[in-house]
Amino acid sequence: MTNDKTDAIETRLIHDDRKLNPTAAVAPPIYQTATFRAGSAEDFAVRAGQPRHPEYYTRFGNPNHAQVESVLAAAEGAEAALVSASGMAALSSAVLALVGQGAHIVAQENHYGGTLMLLRDFLPRFGVEVTEVDQTDTAAFASAMRPNTKLVLVESPSNPVMKITDLREVAELAKARGALTLADNTFATPMNQRPLDLGIDLVVHSATKYFSGHSDLIAGVVMGSASLVERVWNANVVLGGTLGPFDAWLLLRGMRTLSLRMEKHNANALALTQFLERHAAVKAVHYPGLKSHPQHELASRQMSGFGGMFSFDLKGGYDAASRFLKQVRLASIAASLGGVETLVVSAAANFLHYMTAEEAERVGIPLGLVRVSAGIEAADDLIADFEQALSPTGKGN
Ligand code: PLP
Repeated sequence: MTNDKTDAIETRLIHDDRKLNPTAAVAPPIYQTATFRAGSAEDFAVRAGQPRHPEYYTRFGNPNHAQVESVLAAAEGAEAALVSASGMAALSSAVLALVGQGAHIVAQENHYGGTLMLLRDFLPRFGVEVTEVDQTDTAAFASAMRPNTKLVLVESPSNPVMKITDLREVAELAKARGALTLADNTFATPMNQRPLDLGIDLVVHSATKYFSGHSDLIAGVVMGSASLVERVWNANVVLGGTLGPFDAWLLLRGMRTLSLRMEKHNANALALTQFLERHAAVKAVHYPGLKSHPQHELASRQMSGFGGMFSFDLKGGYDAASRFLKQVRLASIAASLGGVETLVVSAAANFLHYMTAEEAERVGIPLGLVRVSAGIEAADDLIADFEQALSPTGKGN
């Protein structure tokens, strides 16, 4: 039997879409088509009139979308999911669906850079006001709320110093004031954290990251109640951020192994951060799984694992961070995260194109900070590589 909602997530990642594959092919076919034949004028009218019909026109939906959405929704514990062309398409469609002129948003000081651009540069042009708060201070969310606050946007853990938002408390206080909540759950994934179970209304992901898992596609997803997801679909159809059928198919393939990969990402990040904490060249390590993380207790309450993302600050500042990046052998210096391979970036190099050094320091981004997306290689190999890369001369490359 397929699609038994009592099955464990690992099982549902493999089987939940089977009911949406009418063929005998074990791996579903790719519906690489822009449009679909209707049998009659009446049939066409039904397809055109039904929101999210999977066989009308691919911008409105496609069987590959429906298949991967069923698995994504199962993973996140959501009633419905909507895939889109990127994480930013998902985020922009969700925000633009939920707010209009005269609305106010409460958001965090720390968000993914693209999200900050949407909040700071884009939305004010359409008469939407945004207040950014320190996400570690739940009271700051409460005091930022106004009568016209329509949306509270959260992201936890956040990029790059892994600050944590108390999702349950923020969801409660927003609900009490009639505002919706939207959480970016990209870093944690539902294998480690389920915001909807904590009372958040909508979850957004860059599916480019852990969901696809192989750094080979760009995609996004919004998940929540069917009625809210349909509102976001209405915006996404107009904004046009449609995921291509092949990318939807690849994303489904990635989802099959999400639970296995996340176990290894979690374990590798913990092993690397425990090693780094003991290293003489390291000033600080930011990972919610470490007892030394200032919000470890909150993270342990709302997360079942701590993910593959962390950052560490080198005593030698920017020069030491550049030297580490030059000397590291297995990890690649690359944007993005959540793939099977370990990636590293200098947080300063990543952030300084839209923040001054002073602003970066104020929101906790020191110049010696290195952000790591721990892959699924052998932990001992990664530790040995980091060790040689931290030595003054290195021996890699
Ligand atoms: N949210 C987070 C936390 C991210 O890290 C990113 C991208 O790095 C995005 C959203 C945007 O996703 P995409 O690049 O798929 O548009």
